[in-house]
Amino acid sequence: MGCGSAMPTFQNSPTGQILELCDKSFLIDCGEGVQLKMRQMGLKTARLYTVLISHLHGDHCFGLIGLISTLGMMNRTQPLHIYAHSDLEKLLRPLLDYHCKDLSYEVVFHAINPRKREVIFEDRTVMIETIPLKHKVPTCGFLFTERHRDTEPQKRYAYCSDTMFREQIAEQIEGVDVLFHEATYTEQYADKCRLTMHSTAKQAAEMAKLAQAGKLVIGHFSAREDDHEVFLHEAQEVFPNTVLAEEGRSIEV
Ligand SMILES: [Zn+2]
Ligand SMILES: [Zn+2]
Repeated sequence: MGCGSAMPTFQNSPTGQILELCDKSFLIDCGEGVQLKMRQMGLKTARLYTVLISHLHGDHCFGLIGLISTLGMMNRTQPLHIYAHSDLEKLLRPLLDYHCKDLSYEVVFHAINPRKREVIFEDRTVMIETIPLKHKVPTCGFLFTERHRDTEPQKRYAYCSDTMFREQIAEQIEGVDVLFHEATYTEQYADKCRLTMHSTAKQAAEMAKLAQAGKLVIGHFSAREDDHEVFLHEAQEVFPNTVLAEEGRSIEV
């Protein structure tokens, strides 16, 4: 729903993805505008089950309060579970108390430690593990492993945003079917990339190669670059099976 980085532009919104599995939708990060994009894409908010927030930079969580409020107007009754750094609850509680006093449902916060690799969610259909990442603030990605169904092999999806290139990530996500890895900059801005603790498209591709991922999806594009083909080209030189994240695009794992 959003494949831009911190600065919203007419071309791209900040981060937001939906992972659909059986009858459940998992929202991964919730930048500004996510609720509108969900509606635009015909995604049913009623199916929204769990929200996972990688870190507390605004481009990954500014959309939450609006979404929570709207779900209330829709008379949701099912609790909404949010997994994030413990500071998120501290930040959101006063807003919920002020704006969402009579919410029709419960918002349940689950504190995660982004520095540690751990299983944070498990049910009959999926297991979700955190992936410690390296960024300006405590950040983790998420690894989804489908629970075994009799006839098909388990599918795995890894989400890594925001992060510098970090070799240790590769061993945890080895052999994933699809890897989403941030690619904020092209090689032209490699210095800026290091300073802000992000990755270039080439580094994202190196991660996919190292981890032997089936497919790489790159996103979190800087507003400095409006031609996304440059990202794609730089990544494909290292890892040919790369595609660009695009708003509205759906990808089968
Ligand atoms: Zn970001
Ligand atoms: Zn960030």
